[in-house]
Amino acid sequence: MLRIAVVGSGPSGVYTAQHLVQQTRVPDVEVHVLDRLPCPYGLVRYGVAPDHEKIKSLQSNLRTVLEHERITFVGHVEVGTHTLTPERLLELYHAVVYCVGAARDRRLDIPGEDLPGSHSATDFVSWYSAHPDAVPDGFALAARTAVVIGVGNVAVDVARILARSAVELAATDVPPTVLDALGRSRVRDVHVVGRRGPSQARFTTKELRELGSLPSARVVVAPADLALDPAHADVSGVTAAALPAVNRRNLTVVRTWADEPDPTPPPDGRRIHLRFFLRPVELLEADGAVAGVRFERTAPDGLGGVRGTGTYEDIAAGLVLRAVGYRGVPLPGLPFDADRGTVPHRDGRVLRAGKPSPGEYVAGWIKRGPTGVIGTNRPCAKETVASLLDDVDELARRPVAGDPLLELTSSGQRPVLWSGWRAIESAERELGRSLGRPSVKIPRWEDLLNAALG
Ligand code: NAP
Repeated sequence: MLRIAVVGSGPSGVYTAQHLVQQTRVPDVEVHVLDRLPCPYGLVRYGVAPDHEKIKSLQSNLRTVLEHERITFVGHVEVGTHTLTPERLLELYHAVVYCVGAARDRRLDIPGEDLPGSHSATDFVSWYSAHPDAVPDGFALAARTAVVIGVGNVAVDVARILARSAVELAATDVPPTVLDALGRSRVRDVHVVGRRGPSQARFTTKELRELGSLPSARVVVAPADLALDPAHADVSGVTAAALPAVNRRNLTVVRTWADEPDPTPPPDGRRIHLRFFLRPVELLEADGAVAGVRFERTAPDGLGGVRGTGTYEDIAAGLVLRAVGYRGVPLPGLPFDADRGTVPHRDGRVLRAGKPSPGEYVAGWIKRGPTGVIGTNRPCAKETVASLLDDVDELARRPVAGDPLLELTSSGQRPVLWSGWRAIESAERELGRSLGRPSVKIPRWEDLLNAALG
């Protein structure tokens, strides 16, 4: 029997567990999927926007995996702190696969970044996703104008949530406090700003296009921004043809919006302004809070990047969301490459002092950095599991101590097992029923643990 711990129950952790139990080379593998939270699914539960029901429905596939007879979900256990160190895990399991994702936001490192009213998009996402560690409230939704910095899918998500009316979100699982706050929001203009051009934006076309079909919002693109893009200037020429397909499609979508005269949103509607070639240099302050963002106008440098032009543009805004990417966080006891924000590895094998560390592996964002969509985690997990299987003879010889679950309880942790998670789900459905919705998320630690553990 081979006993393996997978740390993290987001997509990369679940796909790793799935590959482990589906392989036929070692039939008696037993997998414990550990998570710090009492709820599984990682960013599928706490990152995918509440109005993206189709992507959220992936949870049912992940559920099927976690209900496999040789997989045990062990929530509410924290690895790296207290007694559950990576060293101790290696005494309890033949192998450990770290799938802990990239938990923090990247910083802009410009003046004013921490002014009240300026937040990382990840904080905003955690709030509307009811993450138990989220800041409870306090986003400056009384502002008329918001600036979202960055043109990736997270920027698109937060802009879309700001641009939706409460009626559009009423059937989702967001907590009542979030629905109330978004319902009272006075934000009517959302500027989504990229430092490079539309042909280098990171969003995927489906997500981008969706902005144009929101019932209460219209998208505005300044033709002058677009004209700066070499691929736009050379619409059907060499520059445009050399772009990856996704960027070409994005450009086509943006171009159709730029061709429309300034569209009028419906009464009480919102405008989403897509802006390009503007690099943030400073967050402006008034009365101790953010009052806008100063951008430097950039121009293409001919190499896919941009250079500053020395001219500046201020966009006044009372709310700023920085959506410039996630970054990995070091896990105490595991090596960490601070520049890349990942754990050093070779084909998924954790490297300590440049050498593979027997029994330690990584998959997902902590392995390759915060890129790709959910499905990208499948081949990533597969590669790691292939490395682990190549090492299996050596792993099987490693002695492991008694029952890890007993060890966890006796060390003072209160694990939430699958039945506990199912109890949370029931409580959320019950809450939903009382509010006339299918299910409503429980945001507070205390309430989650009460539901799970009684
Ligand atoms: P991302 O795709 O890496 O986009 C980050 C954006 O921030 C880019 O536009 C980047 O510009 C910009 N940026 C970075 N540093 C900056 C700086 N100092 N100043 C100004 N702009 C800066 O990150 P993300 O949006 O957080 O998404 C992370 C991953 O999750 C992506 O793979 C994404 O596709 C995925 N995701 C997918 C979905 C979905 O499928 N619906 C939803 C959410 C997230 P440059 O390009 O110039 O660096």
